[in-house]
Amino acid sequence: MKKILVTWWAWFIWSHLCKKLLDEWNEVICLDNLFTWNKKNIENLVSNPAFTFVLHDVTQPFWAQVDEIYNLACPASPIHYQKNPVETIKTSLLWAINMLELALKVKARILQSSTSEVYGDPTVHPQPETYRWNVNINWIRSCYDEWKRAAETLFMDYHRQYWVDIRIIRIFNTYWPNMHPADWRVVSNFIMQALQNKDITIYWDGSQTRSFQYVDDLIRGMTLMMNNDKWFIWPVNIWTEYEFTIKELAEKVIELIPWCTSKIIYEDLPSDDPKQRRANNKLAKEMLWWEPSIKLEDGIEKTIEYFRNQLLQQQLGFSVKRDIIKWVTLYNMMKIVNAERIVDI
Ligand code: UDP
Repeated sequence: MKKILVTWWAWFIWSHLCKKLLDEWNEVICLDNLFTWNKKNIENLVSNPAFTFVLHDVTQPFWAQVDEIYNLACPASPIHYQKNPVETIKTSLLWAINMLELALKVKARILQSSTSEVYGDPTVHPQPETYRWNVNINWIRSCYDEWKRAAETLFMDYHRQYWVDIRIIRIFNTYWPNMHPADWRVVSNFIMQALQNKDITIYWDGSQTRSFQYVDDLIRGMTLMMNNDKWFIWPVNIWTEYEFTIKELAEKVIELIPWCTSKIIYEDLPSDDPKQRRANNKLAKEMLWWEPSIKLEDGIEKTIEYFRNQLLQQQLGFSVKRDIIKWVTLYNMMKIVNAERIVDI
């Protein structure tokens, strides 16, 4: 049994990681500053005595004797991280430094979840780890891209200078059940729109591409990287090679929801939106024997199921609330009517 620290944002993927670590009989401590928060995602974890949640201002140092640290913290949805770019870059970098200092002090292994965004708007396809980027340091996505790039440098330097036992993975467009319904990323947007028969909003003409990965494949790759003892520490793409256009994704979502009558509409492309993304995952296959196993259809179906239940619960909640309001109003009206009667008499 290991003691593992996970720094996270509660709505994010990490509830799936914590669940896996707890299922493997580890003790898990989670740190969060509640920047993007919903307590629902930890409700089923807190009952486990091996799970501890710590609310902590992550710009301040943190101490705990742990064996491993997964540093996963940072909102990853462009709309979320662009809402407060200064907070995004400042907090995330200070957080990374605090976690590296902790790893150094307690001799823990530390994994950094980096991102495809470090490649910018790539000019080489598929992108191997050795690709030297096509980035713009001044674009509106830079608050996210640049902290992730700086974090990779910091991790490598802590390793070269202090021998901190690091691991770095680069992750890409991942989707999962219990995503935030207002996450504003493409998978959750399309599913929410299609389930409610609203227009499906494709930005640009939908020919831009992404490779979508289901959360279970990512978590497997992440834990394989953490647990590899070969001193394989270099950044590795944990990513599926299957590339889809955004239009294909929209069509797939519509196809998987038989009652959907949504139509596709086209809107402007957000500034600096990368046109093509496809990973080269040869290194992960060779070094970790990792390969994605979940097909887009299967993952999307599970995610649709989750959002559908959420919507049903919401509607049920609304109709119960509506009924209560109706009855309270009726009761109050009856009181008024009765009062008038009494006066009449
Ligand atoms: N996108 C879209 N409609 C939406 C949301 C996103 O067409 O409702 C596009 C977006 O412009 C981008 C791609 O889908 O080209 C993936 O966007 P997302 O925000 O999910 O992730 P990114 O890879 O850009 O970080």
